[in-house]
Amino acid sequence: MSDRQTQTDVILIGAGIMSATLGTLLKELVPEWKITVFEKLASAGEESSNEWNNAGTGHAALCELNYTVEKPDGSIDISKAVSINEQFQVSRQFWSYLVNRDLIRNPHEFIMPLPHMSMVQGEKDVAFLKKRFEALTGNPLFQGMEYSDDPAKLAEWIPLIMTDRKTNEPIAATKIDSGTDVNFGALTRMLFGHLKSQGVGINYKHSVDNMKRTDDGSWELKVRNLDGGSVERHTAKFVFIGGGGGSLHLLQKSGIPEGRGIGGFPVSGLFMVCTNPDIVEQHHAKVYGKAKVGAPPMSVPHLDTRFIDNKKSLLFGPFAGFSPKFLKTGSLFDLLGSVKPGNVLTMLAAGAKNVPLTKYLIEQVLQSKEKRMEELREFIPNARSEDWDLVVAGQRVQVIKDTAAGGKGTLQFGTEVVSAADGSIAALLGASPGASTAVSVMLEVLKRCFPQHIGEWEEKLKEMIPSYGVSLVKNPQLHEEIHAATAQALGLSRELQPV
Ligand SMILES: Cc1cc2nc3c(=O)[nH]c(=O)nc-3n(C[C@H](O)[C@H](O)[C@H](O)COP(=O)(O)OP(=O)(O)OC[C@H]3O[C@@H](n4cnc5c(N)ncnc54)[C@H](O)[C@@H]3O)c2cc1C
Repeated sequence: MSDRQTQTDVILIGAGIMSATLGTLLKELVPEWKITVFEKLASAGEESSNEWNNAGTGHAALCELNYTVEKPDGSIDISKAVSINEQFQVSRQFWSYLVNRDLIRNPHEFIMPLPHMSMVQGEKDVAFLKKRFEALTGNPLFQGMEYSDDPAKLAEWIPLIMTDRKTNEPIAATKIDSGTDVNFGALTRMLFGHLKSQGVGINYKHSVDNMKRTDDGSWELKVRNLDGGSVERHTAKFVFIGGGGGSLHLLQKSGIPEGRGIGGFPVSGLFMVCTNPDIVEQHHAKVYGKAKVGAPPMSVPHLDTRFIDNKKSLLFGPFAGFSPKFLKTGSLFDLLGSVKPGNVLTMLAAGAKNVPLTKYLIEQVLQSKEKRMEELREFIPNARSEDWDLVVAGQRVQVIKDTAAGGKGTLQFGTEVVSAADGSIAALLGASPGASTAVSVMLEVLKRCFPQHIGEWEEKLKEMIPSYGVSLVKNPQLHEEIHAATAQALGLSRELQPV
């Protein structure tokens, strides 16, 4: 047992994209605050934020069909799509600020322009896609979207998908060139590199095992140094729990009443990665389909060009599955260990409600590679087994809580900030839309936890995020200017050219 004890202003638990973003925002707003990070793995961005553990989609609702639902009267509700798009514009602005100030470099190492497409088959889904296109196309945030149900046009856009396609079913797609592929692992590592250069204390192989409030309202963390096992005590006035799937356990340990009654439902993921460079070269887009009946929204199949380590790759998936682990590197007891007196009724209700989903996810885990190839062949009809390998992706822990709309034990598919009433601690739960909206979500943490400072920070926030506090959808001129400026800063100007 070591007697190492420190005091600091801010402790960030976990070295994923969320802590990286919050730390970077705070360093710009209050450079004099002392920030310390504890990460149990050996480096930054190794869990969900790692490039092989997520799909790398810059989620701006350009292609994800689950963000635009059909209302009972047949019209399309685009409000969620607009909100997610606005949040992605906020991320683009903050990343551009960092690049323009030389705080991070070489944006092409973390963001690349890539058309985003939605593709559907069958009369009903084609009609839905057309209506969705009509609802979005007049909106300034979705300018440049194209629609086609002409097989010849589609063969131009997605030759790999259209070659050898034998069905007579109607097929249609939308395409928008302002989509992006984001390497969140590379971005996380860049941000932690920047934080280190600014004097932030980053402690890898340090696991936060427990925490308690001190008499003066600060938080004392019990931290285990995994190199040797010594235990340290570290105190901070503000703690951010950015432990990804590990956040729920830590929130429960904090004992704050706001964390009671919340549970987690882990969903695992698998991708198929193409090993044949000739096939990789034949595709250049992210193509999102529609989730199968009974499948959760995070298992919408998509065929994605990816840029990892300056190399073009092709991934298909994710295949959702069930594993009781909350982190990819977590324990098989994570789910059981998260059931506490405060959430047991919620968890039991969720268990009863989600039997079909759990059954679906377990069946998914048991699928053979050949069965998965059949799903891939709905995208690439002539896909050969020998050209594809399976890779294990990250874990997503979806929030379970009681809601007025869904009742007891309702599964949530979004991202949720949980914070103490006095703002001394906040945790981020959930994983969707995830990393793409990290900047907006961390701004939410700042607003909730530092209400006494947010006013004085406004000028700097506007410098970093020119649209701060302004709706872009209501200010198309500003959107146009910001979109062009961020495309320029991030090297995305090629997005304006045809594929
Ligand atoms: C299959 C899949 C596909 C996805 N696709 C996309 C996508 O296309 N686009 C998108 O925007 N988002 C996507 N996401 C979501 C996105 O990856 C996550 O929202 C994001 O990476 C979460 O970042 P984080 O910092 O909260 O967590 P993480 O990156 O998981 O980081 C948490 C860190 O905390 C550490 N930690 C945990 N507990 C402790 C502890 N007790 N002590 C010390 N350290 C601890 C962990 O080791 C880890 O390094 C996807 C996720 C998955 C799983």
